[in-house]
Amino acid sequence: MRDINIEIVEVGLRDGLQNDPAMMNTDGKLEFIDRLIGAGVRRMEVASFVNPKRVPQMADSADIMARVPRDKGVTYIGLALNDKGMERALAAKCDEVNFVVVASDTFGLRNQNATPAQSLEVFENMMGTAKAAGTPCSITIGAVWGCPFEGEVPMDRVVRIAERAAHLGASEIGIADSIGVADPWEVKRRVEAVQKAIGDIPLRCHFHNTRNTGMANAAAAIDAGVRILDSSCGGIGGCPFAPGATGNIATEDLAFMLGRAGFQTGIGLSKMIETAHWLETVLGHTVPAMVSKAGLFPKAAA
Ligand code: ZN
Repeated sequence: MRDINIEIVEVGLRDGLQNDPAMMNTDGKLEFIDRLIGAGVRRMEVASFVNPKRVPQMADSADIMARVPRDKGVTYIGLALNDKGMERALAAKCDEVNFVVVASDTFGLRNQNATPAQSLEVFENMMGTAKAAGTPCSITIGAVWGCPFEGEVPMDRVVRIAERAAHLGASEIGIADSIGVADPWEVKRRVEAVQKAIGDIPLRCHFHNTRNTGMANAAAAIDAGVRILDSSCGGIGGCPFAPGATGNIATEDLAFMLGRAGFQTGIGLSKMIETAHWLETVLGHTVPAMVSKAGLFPKAAA
C-alpha cells in the first residue's frame, strides 16, 4: 500500500453544473454540497463570481456561500476573473478564490475577454486584494495541453505563465486540460516542467475526459508527483466557451482508481456513488461516470 494522501477537489458545483443543460436551483445545490461532505469531500469549488448574464447557472453564488455549512472543516472555493469578482467572492466569505488564465490568446479572449498577458495583470491586482484580506488565491492555467481555436499550445508559454503566477504569490497553481486533448506522456512532461518552474507552490491538475484519456492523465500526473486533482461527481461538466468540451474526470472513478492502488483520498465511495445516482434524478439525465454504473469492488468496500 502506498500510504500517500491525494487531495480531490470537487468541482461539480461549478465546472460541472455550469455546463449542464439542466439548471439546478439553490436548494438542490446545497443538498449536493451536503451529500459531497457526507462522501468525504473537504475542498470544493462551489461558486463563480462572474457576470451572471454570461453564466446564469452561477447567479446564486452569494446565496450558496451564505448558506453552506461552515462547521465541517470544508474549504469553499469561489471563482473570480476580475477585481469586481474578487470583491464579491471576499464579501461572500469564500475560503479561497480561484482565478483562471487561459494559455492561448483566442481562447482567453473568448473565455474572459483577455489575453494571457492581460489576465496576469488582472491577477496581479487581485492578488493584492486577496493578500490584504488574508484569503488564499490560486490560479488555474487553462488550455495547457491544447486550445480549441489555436491548436497546439507551446510548453514554454505554459511554463512562463506558471512562473509569473508563482512570482505574483499564487497560493496554488492548477494546470487544466480544458478540452480533453492531453495524453499521459505529455502530462508527465508538462507537470515536470511546471513543477520545476514553481518550486514549493502546490500544483493541482484538472482533466476533462472528452477523449477518454482523463483517468490515464490523472494517473500520469500522480506518477509525476502531483498530489491534488480536480474532479466532479458523476463526471458532469465542461466549458461553455470551448466547443466540444465535455465532462470533468469523475470523482468516484478517480477515488476508485486511487483507492485500489492504496492511495488515501478520504472519499467514501458508496456515498459518492449514491450522490451520482441522486444527480441523475435531479438533472434528468445519466452521468458519464463509470464506477457509479459498475459498482464497488470488492463488494463490501466503501
Ligand atoms: Zn474544466
